[in-house]
Amino acid sequence: MIGDLRGELDAELAAIREAGTFKTERAITSAQGAHITIEGRDGEVINLCANDYLGLANHPDVLAAAHDALDRWGFGVASVRFICGTLELHTQLEAALTAFLGTEETILYPSCFDANGGLFETLLTDEDAVISDALNHASIIDGIRLCKAKRLRYANGDMDELELRLKEAEGSRRVLIATDGVFSMDGYIADLPAICDLAERFGAMVMVDDSHAVGVLGAHGRGSPEHHGVTERIDIVTGTFGKELGGGGGGYTSGRREIVRLLRQRSRPYLFSNSITPVVAAGSLRSLELLTASTELVDRLRANTRLFRSLMADTGVEVRAGEGPIVPVMIGDEQRLAPITAAAFAEGLHVVGFSYPVVPLGTARIRTQVSAAHSEDDLRFAADVFARVAGGRAPA
Ligand code: PLP
Repeated sequence: MIGDLRGELDAELAAIREAGTFKTERAITSAQGAHITIEGRDGEVINLCANDYLGLANHPDVLAAAHDALDRWGFGVASVRFICGTLELHTQLEAALTAFLGTEETILYPSCFDANGGLFETLLTDEDAVISDALNHASIIDGIRLCKAKRLRYANGDMDELELRLKEAEGSRRVLIATDGVFSMDGYIADLPAICDLAERFGAMVMVDDSHAVGVLGAHGRGSPEHHGVTERIDIVTGTFGKELGGGGGGYTSGRREIVRLLRQRSRPYLFSNSITPVVAAGSLRSLELLTASTELVDRLRANTRLFRSLMADTGVEVRAGEGPIVPVMIGDEQRLAPITAAAFAEGLHVVGFSYPVVPLGTARIRTQVSAAHSEDDLRFAADVFARVAGGRAPA
């Protein structure tokens, strides 16, 4: 019986509201895209906060592949992979990812959260050590919590501290360095060459979560290893289909074949949870094929990012410096977030405030994300709105 607990939980919720960190959700009433409609407002708004970096969530080819898959493969698989839930479509998607990323083998997961959740405890025991960047995604943090290895942390991107941690880990049977390829709250790109240099010096493996980098970084959109020219030196890449590759959901781990094969035997979210549905697998595969065939979308994303960053610089509104399509508008005080995002929404721009526990207290921000699907007008409009609602000046 819930009894008095209701009162206690209500008090917790009230405290979250008071701190300005209460998260509300607005229901979208259209398909995902650069222009959407949202409940409570007439007409379209510009959407500047989706992970749909390449505009594939609603691409006609992706929709067609998903429709065909429904007819050919049906709706559900009703089984985990090793019982009777492996469709040819799953193995095709795994092979296509391996070829695209330039790795040795790939295993699909229900999500990247699960890929990260099922990685560390499979590979590492209490004889081992894992060294993690302090800004790594929650799923890496939780995955590491599930394993018994010695846990060490270094400040974001601090290679001197990583070296110290590697020295601390000496004597461990296996050492694994874990990092995001692109840190999702700041848009920073990990210094993979320096990480690989240290890993090789100390005999450690390197794992990169490239959820925000595949389709975004590298000449062909193959992610942060391609961007840095270190593809051969990375042991494990995890990623998602929930963002650039159509956004349908699902994740993967790709890398050294022995690691992937062990995951298939032992990784709990793989063994005990259904894989992605045929519709999602087919849409993701088509997204990957589009990305493999041409760099057009990646190039457009890059041009849009340059434009938006320069427009925002003109407004004088503070954004995190960087080169990627994650452009966090820094607000600081949590209490300022809601009035600014509400004012932007009233003007026709959909953006969302990020506050604790997603980012540290006092560093509240509006994470904007540029897409290849945005037009130049969309981006000019967005920068103009920020100039008005966040205390900047109108861009030139
Ligand atoms: N890793 C990173 C860096 C992410 O940003 C996300 C999504 O927020 C995930 C993992 C989880 O991805 P998924 O939605 O596939 O679980």
